[in-house]
Amino acid sequence: MEKCVDDMQTSSAKRMIGKVAVITGGARGIGAATAKLFAENGAHVVIADVLDELGTNLANSIGARYIHCDVSKEEDVESAIKLAVTWKGKLDILFSNAGIGGPAGSITSLDMEQVKHLISINLLGNVHGIKHAARAMLTCHSKGSIVCTSSSAGIMGGLASHTYSLSKAAIIGLMRTAACELGEHGIRVNCISPHGVPSEMLMSGYRLFMGNEVRPEEVSKLVSEKGSLLRGKTPTAEDVAKAAMFLASDDAGFITAHNLVLDGGYTSGTTTMN
Ligand code: NAD
Repeated sequence: MEKCVDDMQTSSAKRMIGKVAVITGGARGIGAATAKLFAENGAHVVIADVLDELGTNLANSIGARYIHCDVSKEEDVESAIKLAVTWKGKLDILFSNAGIGGPAGSITSLDMEQVKHLISINLLGNVHGIKHAARAMLTCHSKGSIVCTSSSAGIMGGLASHTYSLSKAAIIGLMRTAACELGEHGIRVNCISPHGVPSEMLMSGYRLFMGNEVRPEEVSKLVSEKGSLLRGKTPTAEDVAKAAMFLASDDAGFITAHNLVLDGGYTSGTTTMN
């Protein structure tokens, strides 16, 4: 029995051996945790981000490659995908995760330039990613897995700014439509929707909202007390990375067009009667 357990652990220990993955927004936060987890599990990872120093240092420390890539620019995303294909001859996975928060404020006074800027990154970045990843996957081997990062704010109102919610809801629609087209070619497309990970992005959102400095522990406390059905628990970037790896890996081979919500049940239920 012990041997059996050992064998099972060995066979599932490294689920990404030989997989070639591009991770946008991989220099820090959820993307960085996912880059580390993929690499630990045997994947060849290309980190694509605009934070060159952080991204290069992380890539060097995990045997990955780094490329400067502003996802709002289609040519940058195309170059990141091409780097993976040139490096290892194929692309198996795109984790399209880059994103920014804000702009805050009333819908009556939205600054349309800020709106367009956010949409160009949070939404068009995913369009660029899916387009070029699908092209590479179709050319290389007609299979693959694309995972986009949406958000609890794409499902439920009032969790973030209007424009952020709009971009994240749109990602879910984009993902489902892409999954409909690409499924027959063996390419799966899914989303993850995290909630409440005290990353730099969330912290800057809280700073704006509260008008003062906040610490990650304070945000975690708020999430665990008010933003989750799992009282006392807070999500980490590593929790989200595990979900991203599940969807990216062959373990999720029959899952497509799915939005995997990592919110401790928050957007699905309430503990109050009225
Ligand atoms: P983060 O700020 O730590 O990471 C975001 C990463 O995206 C950074 O490395 C940043 O440099 C990169 N990025 C920003 N603009 C870019 C651009 N134009 N091109 C390429 N890279 C760019 O925050 P995070 O929380 O790790 O965010 C990762 C993703 O998770 C985002 O899409 C975010 O919207 C989403 N998300 C986060 C939470 C949360 O609770 N933290 C919840 C829901 C969704």
